[in-house]
Amino acid sequence: MPAIQTTTTKGAAVVIDPGHGGIDGGVCRGDDLLEKDINLAIAKQLSSLLRKKGYAVQMTRETDKDVSDLLPNGADTRHRRDVHGRAKFINESNGDLFVSIHVNSCEDPYTRGAITFFTENDPQSKALAESIQNRLNTVTKAKPQAGEYFHESIRTGDFYLLLHTDIPGVIVEVGFITSPNDKKLLATNSYRKKIAEAICAGIESYTAGLP
Ligand SMILES: [Zn+2]
Repeated sequence: MPAIQTTTTKGAAVVIDPGHGGIDGGVCRGDDLLEKDINLAIAKQLSSLLRKKGYAVQMTRETDKDVSDLLPNGADTRHRRDVHGRAKFINESNGDLFVSIHVNSCEDPYTRGAITFFTENDPQSKALAESIQNRLNTVTKAKPQAGEYFHESIRTGDFYLLLHTDIPGVIVEVGFITSPNDKKLLATNSYRKKIAEAICAGIESYTAGLP
């Protein structure tokens, strides 16, 4: 079983899912900066910020590993076992919401910014996505360069994790590793902290509206 961190508080319970891990580096461009490490670093910052504010936090992973071991006899490929394992973890967490953290990639080096994904016909996840995206936009668009295009909207997505989980949740693509400017920022602790603070503020304003 993965290490589960739980704090007993009156705050909402949040599951943080740092994407990839172990042999799965995520989106990489043949250098030292791996998506899996960016995801985990932001997740740890977010976890610490949320705990300070009284939230109970669980993380699907806290080290450099995938979670395919949660379903050793599950789906046929490691990748599917990993994604199914994350959904299982979330569904057994008794959490109020989850946030899965990833880094995006595309062909165009001028494309930057964050995209928060939610599933269609899920108003709570949409509200969470909007709340997080609004905060992220103030961070990711801070230093625009000429010719750059910034993503700044929420989107629906048919991802396994969103379709097979039973609490409100989103997948946050925090930036583009294919943008030299996003990449430079995502390599620094100070920017990772700003991203974590934005996600935390988004969760706070979402949970403030919960019954
Ligand atoms: Zn990813």
